[in-house]
Amino acid sequence: MKAYISKIQHFNVHDGNGFRTTVFFQGCNLRCKWCQNPELQNPTPIMMYDKALCTGCGACMEACTNKALEPCGEGIYFHAFECTLCMKCEEQCFNGARFFSSHKCTLEYVLKECLKDEAFYVYHGGGVTLSGGEPLLQSDFCFSLLHSLKSIGISTAVETAGYVNYEAIEKVIEDTDVFYYDVKLIDRGKRKKYLGSDSNLMLDNLVKLSRLHDRIVIRIPLIPGVNDSETEYIRIMKYIKSLGNIRYVQIMPFHQLGMRKYELADINYEMKDIDAENTIKINKCSDIAKSYGFEVNIGGGGFVYELRAVSKVKETGMPT
Ligand code: SF4
Ligand code: SF4
Repeated sequence: MKAYISKIQHFNVHDGNGFRTTVFFQGCNLRCKWCQNPELQNPTPIMMYDKALCTGCGACMEACTNKALEPCGEGIYFHAFECTLCMKCEEQCFNGARFFSSHKCTLEYVLKECLKDEAFYVYHGGGVTLSGGEPLLQSDFCFSLLHSLKSIGISTAVETAGYVNYEAIEKVIEDTDVFYYDVKLIDRGKRKKYLGSDSNLMLDNLVKLSRLHDRIVIRIPLIPGVNDSETEYIRIMKYIKSLGNIRYVQIMPFHQLGMRKYELADINYEMKDIDAENTIKINKCSDIAKSYGFEVNIGGGGFVYELRAVSKVKETGMPT
């Protein structure tokens, strides 16, 4: 079994309890205008190109037998439709100038990578978090990975925007200790404008999930001029409160750390001129969330909550 994985990040402290190994999946059905992982939106890997590292040696072009890379003036033009994702160009670019946003990885490989951090999970707390992109678009792989981890006693978390068929969520419920569920906007018009979809699927799925799972942390990316007004924020709080069993809210301040990826992936970034975090607004939204009875964390780190019971990691847990 394989999935398109962008990276496996070790020792993360922003994606759950303790040290997390975060697995980033390729693909997302939303098009949030502030996305800081734009290279992961496409369902398959996209080519990234760092002009500053390119020496113009032409090795990538020579490696391409599909004529997807061709000379164009002083540079090289990429014909995306001719590309078969063989990735020979990436292999031949020794300067790291041409590379792909993700690679096909086997379940065994991902599991082995995660288990390199096993000692940290046991002695310092932590586990594995699936992120993206939208991990649940590759839900069979997610299920197998989570199930393998749970079966050897490792804590698991899934970050999702919930814009997937409900069956994909249902598949991983049993093997997920904590869901980090994005709620970005309630207003339908704004959802259409800023997320690229006005579908109620995300909110409907959250209602269904909240009836079956008691460890859901609601994540709200706080985007200047989009959802950081008192009116919009209160609307989000009322909605979350109406679900009945949500205790935790994480406010994720806006940042511009992914700006360079837009350049490398040749994607237009509409929010490049927006200033990063506004502490006054963040504190105000935090106060509003608290007034609705939620426990609030800002930024994703240091949020302490009880996990479902995690059994002792078996010594024979390494995959073969
Ligand atoms: S991935 Fe393969 S087909 Fe695509 S540009 Fe590179 S060498 Fe050519
Ligand atoms: S192989 Fe790398 S350095 Fe050489 S031309 Fe291609 S992208 Fe540039």
